[in-house]
Amino acid sequence: MDGTTTTTTPAVLILLGPPGAGKGTQARKLEEDFGLVQLSTGDLLRAAVAQGTEAGKAAKAVMEAGGLVSDEIVIAILRDRLAAPDCAGGVILDGFPRTTVQAQALDQLLAESGQSINAAISFEVDDAAMVDRISGRYTCAGCGEGYHDSFKQPAVAGTCDKCGATEFKRRSDDKAETVAARLEAYHADTAPLIGYYDAAGVLQKIDAMGRIDTIFADLSRTVSAAIA
Ligand code: AMP
Repeated sequence: MDGTTTTTTPAVLILLGPPGAGKGTQARKLEEDFGLVQLSTGDLLRAAVAQGTEAGKAAKAVMEAGGLVSDEIVIAILRDRLAAPDCAGGVILDGFPRTTVQAQALDQLLAESGQSINAAISFEVDDAAMVDRISGRYTCAGCGEGYHDSFKQPAVAGTCDKCGATEFKRRSDDKAETVAARLEAYHADTAPLIGYYDAAGVLQKIDAMGRIDTIFADLSRTVSAAIA
């Protein structure tokens, strides 16, 4: 012992990629294996819409049209969630930031608490495949486990593999016509963040077109190195 105290700052990981790239699926697996908390601004906004809060009322129509909710609303929601005690062990940001303004706000928020981004991981996918991926997906109403009509059905039809629930739900913005608008918003506003994080020296890329487990193995290696 040399008397030096080492402090570890909580890990901050960002998952970047278009809708349908598998960010949510992989974030949930990372939560389990790395003890990090998944922060999905999409989930937080859907909860705000369901609760009928002011932010939810303002966001509802934009989300249904596949557009981006205002930076002001999203940053405020994220800031509150990030301050919750369960985030002290590190977070995986899924669906945030989506604009340069949000990325700059995040840099500032993290700097205020002496934190920084360990890695921004870009999910490299083929755009054409995203529409099929999104239009077939659904989740367990009980635990949120994700499924897909073609790629991942429950082992026992109609019963969740994870929690045994028998109710499932589909997102209203997963309709083909909305998916096109969401992909457009990604390319116009979010894809430039790949350059932003490359310039900041934290960008990592993974091939996200293969099997869920293969992608997770690759992602886990990237995350382990980034938070070491
Ligand atoms: P997601 O669950 O990440 O696909 O998000 C669903 C919808 O919520 C998006 O299509 C946007 O309308 C909205 N949304 C989620 N996160 C953000 C964000 N960071 N900035 C703006 N809008 C967002």
